[in-house]
Amino acid sequence: MAPQDAYPQSSLLPLVDPRRVVGMHGDPAVPVAPDVRSDVHPDARPGRGPVLYWMHREHRARDNWALLHAHAEAARLGAPLAVVWCLADTFLGATIRQFGFLLRGMAETERHLAAAGIPLVVLRGNPPEEAVRYARAVGASLVVTDFDVLRVKRAWLASAARGLAGFCPLHEVDGRNVVPCRVASPKREYAARTLRPKIHRLLAEFLVPLPVLPPAPPVRWTLPVPEVDWAALRDGLAVDRAVGEVGPLPGIPAVEPGEDAAHAALGDFVRTRLHRYHLRNDPNAGGVSGLSPYLHFGMLSAQRAALAAQARGDAPGECRDSFLEELIVRRELADNFCLHAQDYDAITCFPDWARATLDKHRHDARPALYDEGQLAAARTADPLWNAAQTEMVVTGRMHGYLRMYWAKQILLWSPTPEDAVRVAVALNDRYFLDGRDSNGYTGIAWSMGGVHDRPWGARPVQGTIRSMTYNGARTKFDVNAYIRRMQALRGGEGEQGTLF
Ligand SMILES: Cc1cc2nc3c(=O)[nH]c(=O)nc-3n(C[C@H](O)[C@H](O)[C@H](O)COP(=O)(O)OP(=O)(O)OC[C@H]3O[C@@H](n4cnc5c(N)ncnc54)[C@H](O)[C@@H]3O)c2cc1C
Repeated sequence: MAPQDAYPQSSLLPLVDPRRVVGMHGDPAVPVAPDVRSDVHPDARPGRGPVLYWMHREHRARDNWALLHAHAEAARLGAPLAVVWCLADTFLGATIRQFGFLLRGMAETERHLAAAGIPLVVLRGNPPEEAVRYARAVGASLVVTDFDVLRVKRAWLASAARGLAGFCPLHEVDGRNVVPCRVASPKREYAARTLRPKIHRLLAEFLVPLPVLPPAPPVRWTLPVPEVDWAALRDGLAVDRAVGEVGPLPGIPAVEPGEDAAHAALGDFVRTRLHRYHLRNDPNAGGVSGLSPYLHFGMLSAQRAALAAQARGDAPGECRDSFLEELIVRRELADNFCLHAQDYDAITCFPDWARATLDKHRHDARPALYDEGQLAAARTADPLWNAAQTEMVVTGRMHGYLRMYWAKQILLWSPTPEDAVRVAVALNDRYFLDGRDSNGYTGIAWSMGGVHDRPWGARPVQGTIRSMTYNGARTKFDVNAYIRRMQALRGGEGEQGTLF
């Protein structure tokens, strides 16, 4: 494992704040209220068998609160510890681009876990069913798992809680958010300005140095652990391979998967670019971190990234504060939104004013109409949009400013707002390395449906949803330079449109 001592740390702190942990009873719809914690530890039954950490969102051995909690519980119970991970045959339409990134990262995490004396048990099939089957087969005394807000993951948790009811307890640990999502707020927040003070009030309690994983669990694992052939797993996957894994590209920094690459990328960002974060809205300036694929796959802890940025006393305070605002407040607002609005990818999640304005303009003439195929192929009359779409298809990424512009134009070019959301979610999740993330669903809902935003001046089609225009973009950055860079990725000028 890459050295951890580059970062502040302490092993004297209590391992895991109990407010991160929710003990699930038979009925997962009723999580233990954050102030009723007494059951979290006592319900693990001593001596009944191993502690398992079923990993499915936070794919890392380092800086992982769920793993630390499982480790501490194993020590308390005098039980062995293993990590269980299940490879599903499909996951929300993910292609080999996303599966490949995840599997390569997991191969490395297996090595880091092994170095800490913790086996990784890899299962195949339906994750909650397989995790429960395994837990029952080895007589687990406790299963610990990741907090996740996506519908499919809430269903996994419900299924696992049902499967383990009466057998062993199931603890859900929020290792994604610096301030645990349910602790920050018990309800859907209206906007960043309503969540921000709640998070800031709790930050001193949660943005603490991360403990180091102890060198080995106290009791050795003796059950058989089948060896994993990661390359064979990847090659054997029956997933869509039309969207390929992203290799090295001319002039674009590579995004290698895995915890070590994530830490290297974090180190590089805080050392060489954090001081330029005030240029974050310029897609040509290289001011942003590029960390979202690592954060999305849980290969990097946001808390680690926040501590690293905080420790950079030589970076301008304005840059550090804005980075922490995106990394903590905006990112945690996304989990808050998706947890409380489970229709996060439908227009029903938009606020009333946004639905009303979109309805009022439902029959407005569109400047152009494009179907999903034309959009995917970057064949519109807007050269900036085509360039952004090219960046997405070729690199699996897109600059944050352009993601907003990209989604807002799709709203203008679709027959209905419902079509617009469907197509944006489909493209977002098909091509982005960081797709299928609460940040993505929230970003689309913000761009197209005014979620966390307010009404602006009325315009055709989008009504009072905030607009972003080509001419507006030209006042912010060198649009032509960006278009030229993306054309180079395509190997030439290609078919770039001219505006309507
Ligand atoms: C239409 C649209 C679609 C998006 N799709 C995704 C997606 O699929 N996956 C995804 O992770 N993000 C998505 N975002 C949010 C955001 O644009 C990206 O997280 C960000 O651009 C990633 O680049 P970065 O890591 O260099 O960000 P930085 O600016 O360096 O920020 C650091 C981290 O903060 C978080 N962050 C930054 N901006 C936001 C934001 N607006 N909302 C929530 N968290 C944020 C991210 O985790 C990011 O990695 C989307 C935004 C929009 C408007």
